[in-house]
Amino acid sequence: MSEPNDREEISDLVVSLRGLLQRRQRAGIRVLSGPRPAEIKVAAPPEANLLQGTVDDLFADNAEALSARTLDELHAAIGDCRRCKLCSGRTHLVFGVGNPRAKLMFVGEGPGRDEDLQGEPFVGRAGQLLTDIITKGMGLKREDVYICNVVKCRPPENRNPEPDEVAACEPFLKKQIDIVRPEIIVALGKFAVQTLLQSKAPISRLRGNWSSYHGIKLMPTFHPAYLLRNPADKKLVWEDIKKVIKEMRSENA
Ligand code: SF4
Repeated sequence: MSEPNDREEISDLVVSLRGLLQRRQRAGIRVLSGPRPAEIKVAAPPEANLLQGTVDDLFADNAEALSARTLDELHAAIGDCRRCKLCSGRTHLVFGVGNPRAKLMFVGEGPGRDEDLQGEPFVGRAGQLLTDIITKGMGLKREDVYICNVVKCRPPENRNPEPDEVAACEPFLKKQIDIVRPEIIVALGKFAVQTLLQSKAPISRLRGNWSSYHGIKLMPTFHPAYLLRNPADKKLVWEDIKKVIKEMRSENA
């Protein structure tokens, strides 16, 4: 059981958090995930030593980024980010590239070697495949769409991003989507799909079926790097992309 002082501090914490969220909503900042203020519950009293600091401390590190209104402001706010351990091995933080008002957004996993060296997403062999999908398959230019990743810094030896790294970087991806406000997101590979859909289901089951990310149509499909290793599955991705083309045409009709 909590001591009376602990309960008071918990109550103050909830009131302070509710006020912060209400101020953010009044300022026009969309809250994309998490419970509504009225739904916040304290399930169990936290340990006394977790009650140090204020609720503003919880958001202090990301406050500037989360209040950004343009991609440039967001990029500047992320700055020389050191919020997770991936910062130690990167050459460049790979923010994203493309049309800031794009109707179509591609979200991948994280930068590889070429992307890390050049500071741009999807520029290596897998990137060339994505560029072919955009230009030859969809008849668009790379500059017409917006391209970014779940994590902005290269995982060493191209390993998978770890849960703490995804959690640290995810707010920036959500803010990018919030600013660009695309009509359609194509999520490339397991990490992008599972992060955006908050699902543990395998990509092989999710791909090809329309989902929704906060009201934005989302098409899960395989990552181009996977296709380099499994070229026979290119036809599955083409089926998924044809659904995206059809949806874009109906949006523009
Ligand atoms: S991966 Fe994201 S959270 Fe981690 S250091 Fe890079 S920008 Fe920051």
